[in-house]
Amino acid sequence: MTAEPLLTPYADVADSGDGGMGLYLHVPFCLRKCPYCSFFSVAGGNGRRWDYIRAVEGQVRRIIESGWTEGRQAATIFVGGGTPSLLEPEQLAALLAYFRRHFPMAAEEVETSVEVNPATVGGAELARLCRAGYNRISIGVQSLVDRELREIGRPHTAAEAIRTVHEARGAGFANLNMDLMYGLPAQTVASWEQTLVAAMELEPDHLAVYELTIEEGTPFARRRQQGSLCLPGEDEVMEMMAVTAARTAQAEFSRYEISNYARPGKQCRHNINYWRNGWYAGLGPGAVSCLAGRRCRAIEDIDEFCRRIGSGKEWWSDIEELDAEARLRETVIMGLRMTDGISMTEIARRFNVDILAYYGDILLRLEEQGLVEQSNDRLRLSPAGMVFANQVMARLV
Ligand code: SF4
Repeated sequence: MTAEPLLTPYADVADSGDGGMGLYLHVPFCLRKCPYCSFFSVAGGNGRRWDYIRAVEGQVRRIIESGWTEGRQAATIFVGGGTPSLLEPEQLAALLAYFRRHFPMAAEEVETSVEVNPATVGGAELARLCRAGYNRISIGVQSLVDRELREIGRPHTAAEAIRTVHEARGAGFANLNMDLMYGLPAQTVASWEQTLVAAMELEPDHLAVYELTIEEGTPFARRRQQGSLCLPGEDEVMEMMAVTAARTAQAEFSRYEISNYARPGKQCRHNINYWRNGWYAGLGPGAVSCLAGRRCRAIEDIDEFCRRIGSGKEWWSDIEELDAEARLRETVIMGLRMTDGISMTEIARRFNVDILAYYGDILLRLEEQGLVEQSNDRLRLSPAGMVFANQVMARLV
């Protein structure tokens, strides 16, 4: 590789150049832990929710005092988890109002997403969230086959998920995402297609479609080790991917990221900011922030997080100062997740580097293998590169 020297220790100060940032709030409570999940969240925690909310408000004040978000305006707010809908709608409304009062907001309409689990909301709660100013809802459906939902330990049925979609529309949400998963235990290509067809009938605006990955330390990882977890084979998973491509295209969804599909104008702006390696402030325990060339993670301990914020102590578990090269590589890898890839001119502006010269032979080989392609200033994964994205990224990291 011809690694050209980069001129400044943190060359990416201008990032995408729009002065925007995302706000992410991590709500670390769940009804119970799903056996495949490695996100930071705890089951229950009812008694700690007000302490958590007060700590998040304290964290907002401290981040603003730090000056790290100086000159930035929040263009998106995303409340995720965990299970945000375990908080009362009034609590979610109060948090949103608090963010709007304390962070400067972008002039255009701020995309404001909230994730809900079908087991935890009804029509009244959804209407309250809509009135509070949430304008995008993300529903954790995962599958519309009850047997599969039971296999992955979800606390809701397919009928409850469908009801939640109807209630969200009835509440006034005009921008609705459904999360779906394939590669599940007991799932077949036919049952995955059944989920996709049923999902399309509900007319979502956006679909996030993820393959189940077995994360170390989860009950599913232990079951796999014991040989008691029966997952679809590689060929079946490839077929599921092909079915996904066909069914989403047929329903006129366009794929704009490896796992994300949207109707025109309904791409998730919050996640696009991540893939463009923009700035974001992560709020709540376990949340990651990327601000002014630093990546920081808050401690994954709700009580300790609340104590530290309450007593004026530092709440980060780690702070990583990103040098220009690390930031450049991240920007390339994240950007290639999107179907329109990265602009080579934009990379040159942000990092003062010619990306083709920087990656040299590695990129040439990837192009020869048909995994990466370039045209009109864009470098992107080819359709085959999308399938083998992890292998491509491993060579560029
Ligand atoms: S509801 Fe979501 S965050 Fe909570 S345990 Fe299940 S997968 Fe993890």
